[in-house]
Amino acid sequence: MRVLLIGSGGREHALAWKMTQSERLEKLFVAPGNGGTQTIAENIALDVTDHAAVVDFSLRERIDLVVVGPEGPLVAGISDDLRAAGIAVFGPSKVAAQLEGSKAFTKALCDEMGIPTAAYAKFDALEPALAYLDQRGAPIVIKADGLAAGKGVTVAETLEQAREAVRDCFSGAFGAAGAEVVIEECLIGEEASLFAICDGEHTILMPAAQDHKRAFDEDKGPNTGGMGAYAPAPVMTDAMIERAYREIVAPAIKGMAARGTPFSGVLFTGLMITSEGPKLIEFNTRFGDPECQVLMMLLDSDVLDILEATAHGTLANVSPRWKRETALTVVLAANGYPGSYEKNTVIANADGLDGNTVRVFHAGTVRDDNTLLANGGRVLNVTAIGENVGEARERAYHAVDAIDWPDGFCRRDIGWRGL
Ligand code: AMP
Repeated sequence: MRVLLIGSGGREHALAWKMTQSERLEKLFVAPGNGGTQTIAENIALDVTDHAAVVDFSLRERIDLVVVGPEGPLVAGISDDLRAAGIAVFGPSKVAAQLEGSKAFTKALCDEMGIPTAAYAKFDALEPALAYLDQRGAPIVIKADGLAAGKGVTVAETLEQAREAVRDCFSGAFGAAGAEVVIEECLIGEEASLFAICDGEHTILMPAAQDHKRAFDEDKGPNTGGMGAYAPAPVMTDAMIERAYREIVAPAIKGMAARGTPFSGVLFTGLMITSEGPKLIEFNTRFGDPECQVLMMLLDSDVLDILEATAHGTLANVSPRWKRETALTVVLAANGYPGSYEKNTVIANADGLDGNTVRVFHAGTVRDDNTLLANGGRVLNVTAIGENVGEARERAYHAVDAIDWPDGFCRRDIGWRGL
């Protein structure tokens, strides 16, 4: 197979690494890729916002499958444009990507299908939003309605924080994503992520994971794109997975199909396990980053078989195997992230750590001859597998400690809930 993978994060390096293990892979392009994908595939400087250019490239290079990593191109409709040109794609249509692209779209589907989620209201002006806050009280959650790279959410402990977050949204802190603000009931419980691969009709569940959204240890500091993850997460017992599937995932898939806009791709369900059972926090319409890194470590089957069957609507014929171990990933981020940070700082000793139980997946890196440079917020994902959370974690941090990057930081407590 000739494959084009779109994206440049740790998620894409992990997907690329897994694809290169497939005997079916003939050629892999990554657009734009990073300093990690460069060593195992061909990075190409395609402008992925130019869908016509992506279609042209795919036709010219006889691409058999395009795999779309991040949400941006999906919400912009890249899958539709590729499919219209007869190219197979792993990734949902523009309409189905609204499950991630618009919180209001998702809330409407929840109402329609009876999916348990937080009560909410949506505002496009400041004064009514502030009045609603006064009426509801704290704690309460404020969200920019559009895509904000996981950073458009404030879980406000006090009314004053809530007011400030609402003012920030309307004053343009999240750009166009903050033109409309969703105010939500604060759900209390343990979070988990469920990943369902779906071809519009058939669904395969992957091991459940836990992410670590906050920047610092003990879940302190601002929300980020994710500072680490592990899977499987003990909070997601078989019974809880079954319940979340039955009450949340299956009705969403069914609802999308019934509307004539079936969901094809990976549906990432962010859950809060509350005292009343699992509730939906949000859907994403692509693999989580960093969750994808641990899922790829656990996958014991050919990833291309799964991605291709999803694209072709033949998922019923595929039943992937998963390793019975635990995988854990620690994100190394640039000092200052998720705020402003320096670029082009030098990372030493990150190469050569890969082995049977450890992989270093790159995100914001570039190579300048033999020097590895950081050029993004989240930069490396040090990923390990072990008999249990403890062993995976020990191996991951052992590798983290071998990396010499004074301009970066990581959390030291990834996986604490699983220990
Ligand atoms: P989201 O981008 O919607 O996943 O939100 C980012 C993070 O904010 C989630 O992973 C949760 O930790 C938190 N969060 C979002 N919505 C709620 C909610 N209704 N109640 C409690 N926490 C929430």
